[in-house]
Amino acid sequence: MLAAAFDRPEAIRRLETTDFDVVVVGGGITGVGCALDAAARGLRTALIERDDFASGTSSRSSKLVHGGLRYLQQGEVRLVYEALLERQRLLRNAPHLVKVLPFLIPMITGRDGVLNPKLARALGSAMWAYDLTGGVRIGKLHRRISVDEAVRQVPTLRADRLAPSYLYYDAQADDARLTLTVARTAALDHGAVVVNRASLASIERDAAGQVESVGVDLHAPGEQHRTIAVRTSSVVNATGVWADDVTAIAEGSHPHSIRPAKGIHITVPWSKLRNDIAVVVPVRQDKRSIFVVRWGDLAYAGTTDTDFDGDPDDPQCTPDDVAYVLDALNAAFTTDLTPDDVTGTWAGLRPLVNTTGSGRTADLSRRHRVGVGEGGLVTVTGGKLTTYRKMAADTIDALLDGVLPDEAIARAARRSTTKRLRLRGADGYDELVAAAPALSRHLPAVAVDHLAHRYGGEAHALIAMVERDPSLGASLVPGLPYLRAEALYAVRYEMALSIDDVLSRRTRARLLRRDDSAEVAEAVAELIGPELSWDEAESARQVAEYRASIEHERAVPELPETALSHLAPHDTTGA
Ligand SMILES: Cc1cc2nc3c(=O)[nH]c(=O)nc-3n(C[C@H](O)[C@H](O)[C@H](O)COP(=O)(O)OP(=O)(O)OC[C@H]3O[C@@H](n4cnc5c(N)ncnc54)[C@H](O)[C@@H]3O)c2cc1C
Repeated sequence: MLAAAFDRPEAIRRLETTDFDVVVVGGGITGVGCALDAAARGLRTALIERDDFASGTSSRSSKLVHGGLRYLQQGEVRLVYEALLERQRLLRNAPHLVKVLPFLIPMITGRDGVLNPKLARALGSAMWAYDLTGGVRIGKLHRRISVDEAVRQVPTLRADRLAPSYLYYDAQADDARLTLTVARTAALDHGAVVVNRASLASIERDAAGQVESVGVDLHAPGEQHRTIAVRTSSVVNATGVWADDVTAIAEGSHPHSIRPAKGIHITVPWSKLRNDIAVVVPVRQDKRSIFVVRWGDLAYAGTTDTDFDGDPDDPQCTPDDVAYVLDALNAAFTTDLTPDDVTGTWAGLRPLVNTTGSGRTADLSRRHRVGVGEGGLVTVTGGKLTTYRKMAADTIDALLDGVLPDEAIARAARRSTTKRLRLRGADGYDELVAAAPALSRHLPAVAVDHLAHRYGGEAHALIAMVERDPSLGASLVPGLPYLRAEALYAVRYEMALSIDDVLSRRTRARLLRRDDSAEVAEAVAELIGPELSWDEAESARQVAEYRASIEHERAVPELPETALSHLAPHDTTGA
């Protein structure tokens, strides 16, 4: 297939006029990974996403590209091996997005300590096992470090209760941006047709029971709703916690195969913790641990792991969730954090495969499962952000293993080609970073650097926008490094269609500084509205909708509004 633009009207035209080999349903990391794998093998591929790319779990993770030390302790050696291999591939294939991240495991002892000497020895063995399972591929072994060194890295740790601790390495990525980048790579480099605000409504089969088309509801904001028929020989169901609903559309019965497990994070001013590296904070009450990771002038902490039986479209952080994370932080750090410090929250649902039906969700396996249904339906569930590429390769292998008609099989590469497939922006990234100080007359090197780490080589397009109109180099949300140019780029080239798309996922302003993002909603509408042909009424509706959702997000966990004065402004213009 010819390369498609990442443009929604053009993608819809192609949806209506092409005979596809596969329609992937779901634009989270799993679905976009499947679309990229299928398209790169030569299959005629479409992807439909009900809401926005990564609007489900894939924008709400801990943002770690990791093997998961904890899973090793649960005996999941194969999962950890696979994840560490994928971590290494991602570091190579998306160097602009995936960064090595050092972690401190503080050994907190004493009367209220969480670790006794026996546990400490077991942890030491686990660290070696992690390195040997593949951790060492990152180029560094874990190290035991002195109390002094630990406190140098994290000066707010309770030093009086600290014993020599461990330092090890994993990696981190902006999950929503990684998802979008995989989607754009599938479309722009491999010809997949990718559309958001497009829900699977029905699956039509021929007399032999073989999938022949799907009904797709199109419903972008301000758009006349309509349903189109898309011709396809197969369907991949990659809808995460909604997978059973799609199976029900396909097969008429709900299999109850998913056990959603909620996890939340909170964001607090980094100045309160001053952690130069990420920290694994033990939680005494349930023998879990939470991560604390710096994110610019803020730090986020999480996660929880609890059964969820509410509305999967609206998982929210509760007062108990916030208290759980704050209590864990206050036990490990000298800082006294309160709900007043919480500038952002997010809650996500792990699409865990329901294996046992009982027990803690924290103990359920994070491995994925590929199921082949009747007449051209393949469902992929479970898994991790980190292992998306392997999940996708396994899913498309299953499709080629007798699900697709012979002529499609003949057209496709038998083996996945994504192990070494560089994602959009990887090329030109190193050169851009090296040249950053001299690249713009209007942006300081720190802003060019910020763009480089989010867009890689494609940042040249954003720099050019600012060179043409320097007002686009100004800050989008006070106190955060995002530029006005990024909002325009999001609607022009990244299929953003709402204020929330821009502030929640193309940038991460909402996760970092919820209330400040609501403040700028009107300014964002003024900036992107003309590009999206919004009239005054639509702009006002968008602003009201965004502010109402922020209000809801703050009200459920009973959090106060956070004032801008919490943080020193982060100046991106260098002025
Ligand atoms: C709190 C938390 C922390 C985590 N931390 C990490 C981590 O640090 N590292 C890691 O590797 N993994 C982590 N994970 C796991 C990882 O985030 C998930 O495994 C992954 O994001 C799931 O992606 P997905 O594409 O399967 O699901 P989703 O991202 O939920 O995507 C499914 C998509 O399907 C769409 N959809 C639903 N119904 C339809 C329909 N009818 N038509 C069209 N589209 C539809 C939805 O809108 C949604 O966008 C974490 C998970 C959670 C919850």
